Amino acid sequence: MAEFAAVDLIRKKRSGASLTDPEIRWLIDSYTSGVVADEQMSAFAMAVFFQSMSPEELSKWTDAMIETGERLDFSSLSQPTADKHSTGGVGDKITLPLGPLVAACGVAVPQLSGRGLGHTGGTLDKLESIPGWQANLSNEQMHAQLEDVGAVVCAAGSGLAPADKKLYSLRDVTGTVEAIPLIASSIMSKKIAEGTAALVLDVKVGSGAFMKTLEQARDLAETMVQLGTAASVKTVALLTDMDTPLGYTAGNAIEVQESLEVLAGGGPADVRELTLALAEEMVAAAGGTADPGTVLASGKPMDVWRRMIAAQGGDPEATLPAAKHSQVITAPETGYLGRLDAMAVGLAAWRLGAGRARKEDPVQAAAGVIWHARPGDQVAAGEPLFTLLTDTPERFEHAQAALTDGFEIVQDTPSLRPLILDRIG
Ligand code: URA
Repeated sequence: MAEFAAVDLIRKKRSGASLTDPEIRWLIDSYTSGVVADEQMSAFAMAVFFQSMSPEELSKWTDAMIETGERLDFSSLSQPTADKHSTGGVGDKITLPLGPLVAACGVAVPQLSGRGLGHTGGTLDKLESIPGWQANLSNEQMHAQLEDVGAVVCAAGSGLAPADKKLYSLRDVTGTVEAIPLIASSIMSKKIAEGTAALVLDVKVGSGAFMKTLEQARDLAETMVQLGTAASVKTVALLTDMDTPLGYTAGNAIEVQESLEVLAGGGPADVRELTLALAEEMVAAAGGTADPGTVLASGKPMDVWRRMIAAQGGDPEATLPAAKHSQVITAPETGYLGRLDAMAVGLAAWRLGAGRARKEDPVQAAAGVIWHARPGDQVAAGEPLFTLLTDTPERFEHAQAALTDGFEIVQDTPSLRPLILDRIG
């Protein structure tokens, strides 16, 4: 392989030029093997933050990250495959009902998920609140479960895009997470390596999301759709609201409970709407014809859920853990709930113990926040607005502080933005 000096490539990117294919490949490989130092890669990431990358450069960058690891292949399955990736939000439990629903529509769903960090929860943390459920599967177990059950949610092994694992930890501590080319290549390298044939992206927009504005979210979505399409993965994106958290719960066990309500045919209207919209996109992208609304009403997705949980050691009939302590916050006045801030709710749930500050921290299965109204609902002074749950009551005060400015009660019916804001692809 050609040899370059990292400092020359940093200077080149700093001046706004594009790297050549051999330069990109050398930089990614040398960083992954430890030849390029963390401080050099951080300088390069900061240069990308300010100078961006051309579409060709980004496509090569993503390919180079994929090639640092293994690629899974589901082409021998009897069903087509489709996956969903959310850029992360508060109360975002959609993966839980979505996988079984799409599987019941005849499309296999290989979901490699992560644990939560900061104010957004992780799908694996939620599922681990089910007694016995195991996140770690070998590639062979994953393949077998997909063939047998049609849906799997498991931990991404260290073999997929190891360059991203290293680079993402570095970006986290160097103020370079929020660069669109770096986010797009990070997400898409893992999803392309995962081997799904179709991918639906749920790009969150708003206070509780990475992308605060519609313009930024559209830019990220278009960039990811281009990368997926270039890699022959049928990719579409929905831009969806994350000013308000999804459903009525943020936590682990309480989000599993809310997902079960959706699988049983009920559940919060917004969780149901987004689950169905994403399922329709996934089924269509995989070439299926089933109607997710009809399939949900048939009860089949609940059967798939039970089999999916049991296949990974979980007991689908087990009682979910309940918090040892709870505290209610009441509405200070009568009116309409005008605003419920996703970031404030996410922070409160995290402070109650539902999330972690460092990746090695444990989470509390039963901790979290329940809100009893959504924007647009009437609220009455003195009635419960939030219930806070935790096993460690010394956390209440700090969690309550996060919510102080996190909601607003207004006297006129508030105007609300739709949940699904745009579609790209
Ligand atoms: N999620 C990822 O996997 N990577 C990013 O860069 C941001 C969010």
